[in-house]
Amino acid sequence: MTLLGIDVGGTKVVLVVGDREGRPLARLRRPMSRTGDWRRDVDELIADARRLLADAPGAGAGRLEAIGLSVPGPVDAPRGVLRNPPNLVGWRDVPIGRVLSQALDAPARVENDANAAVLAEHRFGAGRGVDDLVYLTMSTGVGGGVIAGGRLVRGAFGGAGEAGHIPIEPGGRVCACGLRGCLEAYVGGHAWRDRLREVVPASSLVVEIVGGDREQVGPEALLEAARRADAFALEELGRWLDRLAQGLAAIVMLLEPRRVVLGTIAAAAGEALCFAPLRARLAERLWPHQLEQLEIVPSALGEDLPALAGLAVALPDPAEA
Ligand SMILES: [Zn+2]
Repeated sequence: MTLLGIDVGGTKVVLVVGDREGRPLARLRRPMSRTGDWRRDVDELIADARRLLADAPGAGAGRLEAIGLSVPGPVDAPRGVLRNPPNLVGWRDVPIGRVLSQALDAPARVENDANAAVLAEHRFGAGRGVDDLVYLTMSTGVGGGVIAGGRLVRGAFGGAGEAGHIPIEPGGRVCACGLRGCLEAYVGGHAWRDRLREVVPASSLVVEIVGGDREQVGPEALLEAARRADAFALEELGRWLDRLAQGLAAIVMLLEPRRVVLGTIAAAAGEALCFAPLRARLAERLWPHQLEQLEIVPSALGEDLPALAGLAVALPDPAEA
């Protein structure tokens, strides 16, 4: 039996036919269509899925076990409805689960991309074997997903796990979500990039790394400069780690995960620049028995995340199976 995973993003879509162990048998990646009419966009997805299923080795008609969709923005997961994704024009209250399930004749599950990512890490990546897990995306924004007692935590209104919007500074910087002082407004990739462009001194190695073009300054150049012991870069990284530790302490106190998986920027920064100093900062904010047992690790999926996110959503929740 095979699974179909679909990761819908604002700019691209990835379709994968794979097995229960997350091994892809066939995949397709293309720009996301933006016709302004969700029915046409979904028809294209269905046509692509049919082609991929027909071509996948060992797949074929009637052998599709389940469909999993990872989609941006708020989702009514039990009903399979994508509500109002900010990056998909013409998509509002789209019953994408039902439409795909009927067209492809298999059950479909739908989760927002952050929840899909924590499921992917739990089933195929750095969260395997752990029943209490928190995943933070650490990319342009800070998305989050929570697995507690082996189950995905969705919350009463579907938005649980939005760790990026934990308040860490009363009346602080305006966040992309409209609130002030959110964790994301300090450690999200876009927010950090904007700050760096404002404050980076012309003499910093960061500016040299981007060839003098301040518009190219961002977390990547900062990490490169920090690796080369640039004073400004190390100080900025320290501030970033302080904020991240502040957010993580709140998460750990509420949920006490066994493992925290950190994605993109943190994973790129690595042990010496991110994970070791982060643990040191948490020593001041957590109880010793928590600190002793809590694991903080980089994401294991990297570039494979979009392909595996859909497959992970397709698999039934172990607690429901
Ligand atoms: Zn926010």
